[in-house]
Amino acid sequence: MGKYVIMGIQGSGKGTQAKLLAADYDLVHISMGEVFRGHIRAGTRLGETIRELVAGGHLVPDSIVNQVLRTRLGEGDCQSGFVLDGYPRDLAQAAFLLDLVPLDAVINVVVPDAVVTARMQARRICADCGHDWNLQGRRPQRPGICDDCGGAVVAREDDNPVAIAARLADFHAQTAPVLEFFREHDLVVDVDGTQAPDHVQEEIRRGLGLPVA
Ligand SMILES: [Zn+2]
Repeated sequence: MGKYVIMGIQGSGKGTQAKLLAADYDLVHISMGEVFRGHIRAGTRLGETIRELVAGGHLVPDSIVNQVLRTRLGEGDCQSGFVLDGYPRDLAQAAFLLDLVPLDAVINVVVPDAVVTARMQARRICADCGHDWNLQGRRPQRPGICDDCGGAVVAREDDNPVAIAARLADFHAQTAPVLEFFREHDLVVDVDGTQAPDHVQEEIRRGLGLPVA
């Protein structure tokens, strides 16, 4: 079956799209963030190394990230296909991946910066119980008060305009060369991520040449 990478900025909805795609086509959704957390939870040797690096404020080097990826893709459930999410983050990782497996496509969920910014600014969290709320979607019944626990519903500290602009700039600087590399290999399928989630999914399936249910 298909071996895919999904790319898109935080707030683009790529995680949701990856899950929808994986569920219907017997693919494994591999979230690299989850894989890392799994290693740390399970206390594997890699997990210990990662935990120490992160605790010390260091980035996890490509050599370790690539090792984690190679291990994960080698597991049995991946042999029927996968949607890889959160990797590759740079050009070296992209090249490593293409050497490791023949990819079928790279799904690029495109959302303009202004739209992503608005989405991030609509996010809220309960200061007491940590429940996620959203002024554009699941908003609390009474403004500013958590339905679950009555706590104060507030914006996340890192969702202020300056921090969001910095994240967008970082994202574009990091991913531009990766996308360029995948385009040179004729792998990129661009989809309009501003549409409703089920329409985005339809466009992905058409772009990949998959039967649309
Ligand atoms: Zn709450």
